[in-house]
Amino acid sequence: MRRKFVVGNWKMHKGPQEADALAEALKKALAGRDATVDVGVAPPFVSLPAVVSRLKHTGIVVAAQNLHAEQQGAYTGEVSSEMLRQVGVAYCLVGHSERRQLFGETDASVARKVGACFRSGLLPILCVGETLAEREAGQEAAVVTRQLDAALGALGADQVPSVTIAYEPVWAIGTGKTATPLQAQDMHATIRGWLEAKFPAFVAKSTRIQYGGSVKGNNAAELMRMPDIDGALVGGASLNAEEFLAIIAGAATASGG
Ligand code: PEP
Repeated sequence: MRRKFVVGNWKMHKGPQEADALAEALKKALAGRDATVDVGVAPPFVSLPAVVSRLKHTGIVVAAQNLHAEQQGAYTGEVSSEMLRQVGVAYCLVGHSERRQLFGETDASVARKVGACFRSGLLPILCVGETLAEREAGQEAAVVTRQLDAALGALGADQVPSVTIAYEPVWAIGTGKTATPLQAQDMHATIRGWLEAKFPAFVAKSTRIQYGGSVKGNNAAELMRMPDIDGALVGGASLNAEEFLAIIAGAATASGG
């Protein structure tokens, strides 16, 4: 019942022209496909209008990479959920590990941002994951559970299935080190178990949990064949149309498509 969902996080790459060209390449390659996989891209803020316009009516959804928790005000340099909605963005990444590690985001600020998404009708892609030190200390489940409690614990059962959870072990992001399918599945099962414990059964059954961390064309299918891995959040490999398309093909294979 959960369709695979593959999202490319372009990070601080691709200004408007380059972003438009990559969006066009994806649009062309995916036109008329038998859509067994949901696909999205997350360009930088300044490239969102071009990409939203290029991908209109294609079924490829557009996400922002971040937002501010307030709707407007004296917050120099920030962008609100309402502004993103006006630009035509459907999703927003929240709590990516780079934001947590490099920009001081906390569990509390991530929770406020999830709330802001809901206020503007944006669908959050909530990133959670442990660092290498936390994994080595055997703390991975405790860390991810703490992040989930903070970001989703106060939401209603009707809201949670609109959230995509991205499990991204920090040690696997941009490092070329991928979690093995079994390591990833184990944490995805923990996350689904958390949903089961907190909410009515339909929530755990319908909420999508992506894996992120050095996903490539050659490991995508193997990861997404795991029963609780419902897609991928892809960084580096999403900057190249061919490689990103190979990941989407891997997701289709894993879905039996
Ligand atoms: C990410 O930034 O969300 C990510 C998973 O990056 P990469 O695929 O490059 O590891």
